[in-house]
Amino acid sequence: MAEIQLKNLTKRFGTQVIAVNDLNLVIPDKEFVALLGPSGCGKSTTMNMIAGIEQPTAGEILLNGQDCVRLAPEKRGVGFVFQNYAIFTHMTVYDNLAFGPQVKGWAADKVKAKVAEMASLMRLEDRLDWPSAKLSVNEMQKLAIGRSAIVEPSIFLLDEPLSNLDASFREFMRTELKRIQHQLQQTMVYVTHDQIEAMSLADRIAVMDQGLLQQYGTPAEIYNRPANTFVANFMGSPPMNLIDCALTRDGGRLLLDLGAAGKLELTDPKLLQAAESAERSELVLGVRPEAVSVVDEPDAAGGLSMRVDLLEPIGPRTIIHLTQGDVEMLAVEDKRFGGQHAAQVTAMLPQTQCHLFDRQSGRVLGDAPGIASGQEAA
Ligand code: ATP
Repeated sequence: MAEIQLKNLTKRFGTQVIAVNDLNLVIPDKEFVALLGPSGCGKSTTMNMIAGIEQPTAGEILLNGQDCVRLAPEKRGVGFVFQNYAIFTHMTVYDNLAFGPQVKGWAADKVKAKVAEMASLMRLEDRLDWPSAKLSVNEMQKLAIGRSAIVEPSIFLLDEPLSNLDASFREFMRTELKRIQHQLQQTMVYVTHDQIEAMSLADRIAVMDQGLLQQYGTPAEIYNRPANTFVANFMGSPPMNLIDCALTRDGGRLLLDLGAAGKLELTDPKLLQAAESAERSELVLGVRPEAVSVVDEPDAAGGLSMRVDLLEPIGPRTIIHLTQGDVEMLAVEDKRFGGQHAAQVTAMLPQTQCHLFDRQSGRVLGDAPGIASGQEAA
């Protein structure tokens, strides 16, 4: 059992930098949680505080309900893997794996059995007598993970462990990590700036920006119901379309005025409810490119009139760049798009997949999962 609770956790460096700002997070036992955000958002500092390498300026870190802020790193039951694989390159793979258990004074036969088990889990069993300097880069990173995992820490912290690998190894290691996590059954906290990595590996994602938690939820919640424009824009490739619009009324009808692209009458009950809760008329309409479909005719009923600006065929998909006046939008079609460059077309936006954000605060209108109290978007 290893649950981590961060309560109002804050870290300042000097008077200018608030690396982590009043962070509240519960990382449940045996879950894989990704800390995700752009460079400098406070991910590593959060991780270092959990590990005990950095002291918080304020707040609490509870491991299984016990405050551990004053506990030395080695007493926390935490294993740490950095992006620069920490292994002894002058030792064999066997000796690297055996090092931790030997330091802990395990009996020789237990060390041997555990090394064999870990080598098999990391698929390094035929490399045990190799000098580790001869391993490939991805094998070295697996060895680094194995070295940490072998002493069975109840919490595993991984700080961008794949960032030094090239693209094809990264994909391979992502799958490997998922397999390893299923078998190790440990609580894992994983720092990354790569949203694909976070989406594919994590049970839950904490999205951070400028030291503030933006949203905490399952990958599906974060992707499908972003709490603010930052999360909407950070997740997804290509990212969500975010289009400035104005909320207007026409008799009993609620409309979104998208300028040159036309007006959309709101009909979906959830979207209507969200629009009714708006404090201002200046909103942002969010819709994922893969939700937009393009009808190859101008002014089709119920859609937005747009012009095809660019077509990007990517394998079986086409990314269609649409413009109209100062409105820009992307659509992703799963099939080859038959339309022509510069054609006037209609973009259809399914309202069940649209989101409305307050333009000033960036916050979504209506409900969004995973916004901890006191953790609002900057
Ligand atoms: P990256 O992915 O680039 O490592 P990150 O999200 O992990 O970024 P942190 O390394 O936690 O971010 O840094 C958060 C902020 O704190 C940044 O502005 C960084 O410059 C600052 N910072 C981190 N460590 C220190 C330090 N020891 N002294 C001063 N400022 C620091």
